Amino acid sequence: MSEHVIEISDLSRRFGKKQALDNVSLSVPEGAVFGLVGENGAGKTTLLKHVLGFLKPQQGTVRVFGLDPVADPPGVLGRIGHLSETRDLPTWMTIRELFEFTRAFYPKWDPVYAEELRMMFELSLNQKVPTLSRGQLARAGLLLALAHRPPLLVLDEPSSGLDPVVRKDILDAIIRTVVDEGRTVLFSSHLLDEVQRVSDRVAILDQGKILLTSPLDEVLVSHYQLTVSFQEPQPFFPELEGALTWSGSGREWKIICNGQKQELEVALQELKAEILEQAAPTLEEIFVARMKSAARSSFEE
Ligand code: ATP
Repeated sequence: MSEHVIEISDLSRRFGKKQALDNVSLSVPEGAVFGLVGENGAGKTTLLKHVLGFLKPQQGTVRVFGLDPVADPPGVLGRIGHLSETRDLPTWMTIRELFEFTRAFYPKWDPVYAEELRMMFELSLNQKVPTLSRGQLARAGLLLALAHRPPLLVLDEPSSGLDPVVRKDILDAIIRTVVDEGRTVLFSSHLLDEVQRVSDRVAILDQGKILLTSPLDEVLVSHYQLTVSFQEPQPFFPELEGALTWSGSGREWKIICNGQKQELEVALQELKAEILEQAAPTLEEIFVARMKSAARSSFEE
């Protein structure tokens, strides 16, 4: 088997006139926590549905554990713990019935681990699914995804519906356990602080296209924020290779940059600008900068 648990090459998908995925290629190595980020409608759920074999590629290939998830659903789905964005739990069951129902599909269901998770998630066995709050639904869904100890977890917006404290505790605990056991996680989220905290690889999807896919530490070190001061007030920010976004007015501007710092420093000297401060941007700031830069490029095309 390849060392990549998931390999996606040139995947494209249209819904009518909407290009939901456009030549997407990415690989998820074994043991990675891979965070997929993008604005609403960027194509994250569509991408995850291809990984699960729920959608057939119109163009390109998807391989999970080296298998085609559409051609071999038992070979792929049996090894995936999945949490859907809509949670999709049968509404007539109690939590106890839900456990019994789900474990029948998974020979590797671990009842001791399931019980541990139930206690951690504070779920009562006799509670009925329709009476669960959004947070409880998310926890029940996560429990079902985890309790058969799958080698791959695919989670669509796992913390949506969880309050911030629970979100941090639960998600961190899960991700730690999963990774300690050498398993792999692919999850989508629009909460960039969360993605930065738990992922070791990230991909940014924008309008169906991959803007960036890279180890998180490489993303963080290759972007930097500078505060610069020009000798003369600037009516507009000048053309500057490597500057993704800028804000400010007059003499002082803040820029988020990507690429070779030395070249940028030389260019700033030529423009008679002095660097006042340098800082490391967060993943959220990098994400916003990359999105704005992509929007500007497509506008200029
Ligand atoms: P969100 O964060 O809002 O869940 P997303 O990144 O998961 O968004 P997708 O749900 O993958 O985005 O949708 C990508 C695009 O494809 C959207 O414009 C969506 O309206 C469209 N789309 C997705 N599924 C379908 C479908 N079954 N029929 C028609 N259009 C669809």
